[in-house]
Amino acid sequence: MGFGCPEVSNKSNQSVIFMYRLTVIPGDGIGPEVMEAALYILEVSEIDFSYETAHAGNECFKRTGSTIPDETISTSKKSDATLFGAVTTVPGQKSGIITLRKELDLYVNLRPVKSYEGTPFLFEGLDFVIVRENTEGLYSGVEKYTDDGAEAVRVVTRGACERICKFAFEYARKNMRKKVTAVHKANVLKKTDGIFKDTFYEVAHEYNDIRSEDFYVDATAMYLITKPQNFDVMVTTNLFGDILSDEGAGLVGGLGLIPSANIGDKNGLFEPVHGSAPDIAGKGIANPSAMILSMCMMLKYLGEVEESQKLEKALTKVLRDGKVVTPDLGGVASTMEMAEQVKTIFEGL
Ligand code: NAD
Repeated sequence: MGFGCPEVSNKSNQSVIFMYRLTVIPGDGIGPEVMEAALYILEVSEIDFSYETAHAGNECFKRTGSTIPDETISTSKKSDATLFGAVTTVPGQKSGIITLRKELDLYVNLRPVKSYEGTPFLFEGLDFVIVRENTEGLYSGVEKYTDDGAEAVRVVTRGACERICKFAFEYARKNMRKKVTAVHKANVLKKTDGIFKDTFYEVAHEYNDIRSEDFYVDATAMYLITKPQNFDVMVTTNLFGDILSDEGAGLVGGLGLIPSANIGDKNGLFEPVHGSAPDIAGKGIANPSAMILSMCMMLKYLGEVEESQKLEKALTKVLRDGKVVTPDLGGVASTMEMAEQVKTIFEGL
C-alpha cells in the first residue's frame, strides 16, 4: 500500500467488479499535478478500474530513505498497468524510474512524435515513433571513478538488440507503418553498435513487407531538423533514444506534448517524457497533454482501443481550439482548467 494517499478509488459510486488494477506513481514537481489532471479525466471513462497510489522520487527519498521502495516495485508488478508522473533525480541518488524499468523488465520505451493542430510545432503533419531500448547501454549509468577521471560502461547484448528490433518491426506491421530506421554509431562504436546494426538487419529479413534502413545518430539529429517527415518508426539504443526523443519534442511543440510507454512481456508503465519541471512546479500551469496521451497509450495497451481513441480525440479538439490551453501552448489556462475541458468533451463523445 502507499503512504497515506487515497489507496483505492474507482470511477463511479456503483458497486463494480474492477476490471483493471492500476498503480499510480505521481512522483515530484509537476508529476502529481499532471497525474491529478489525468485521473480526473479517467473518472468519466467507460472502463472499470481501481488504482493504488505508490511512491518514487526525491520526496519519497526524503520520507523513506529510498527513491523507489520495494513496495512500489511489487505494487507495480502486480497491477495491469502503471501510470507514472515524473520524478526529480538528485545526483548520487538511485534513479527511481530506471530501477523500475529494469525491475519490471520494461525493455521497450515507445515515444510517439506527432504534431497536433493548434500547437506550436515546427513541422505540420509529423507522425513518427521512436522505439528506444530501455534496459542497457550507456543510459544504465554504470560508472566508476578512475585515478584521473571516470569510466562508463556501455553494455549491448544480442538478446536485447533482437527483442527491441523485433518489437519495432511488429509495431510497424500492426500499426500500418511502412519503414523502420535503425539509428546507431557503428562506425565508431564498432562492437556495441556493430552488434545492434547487424542484429537489426537479421531481424529485418523476417519482415520483407516493411522497409528497413539505418543512419548514424549524428546524421539522424540533422535529418530530424531537415526532413523529419521521412521518419516512420525509428529504433535505437537507450541514450540515443533519450536524446532524439527530446529533439522530437522540440519539433512538435515542447515536452508538454510527448507521451511514452514502457513495455515488457508482463508489465506496462506509461509516463510523459518530461521531468518534474522545477521551474513551473507548484504554479498549476503544467501542460497535462503528455500525461493524458500517456494514458491513451495505456488504454490501448489494455486493449481499450476505442476509449483510447476517444480520449485522444477530446484532447485533439482542445488543442485545436486553443482556447483553454496552458501557457506553454500560448494560453492562460491552468492544468486543471485544461483537464476540465478535455473531460467535458471526452464525456460527450
Ligand atoms: P523537464 O522535462 O522537467 O523540463 C524541461 C523544460 O520543459 C522546463 O522548462 C519545463 O518547464 C518544461 N516542461 C516540461 N514539462 C512541461 C509541461 N508538462 N508543461 C509545460 N512545460 C513543461 O527537464 P529538466 O528541467 O531537465 O529536469 C528536471 C528534473 O526532472 C531533473 O531532476 C531531472 O533529472 C528530472 N527528469 C525526470 C524524468 C522522469 O521522471 N522520467 C525525465 C526527465 C527529467
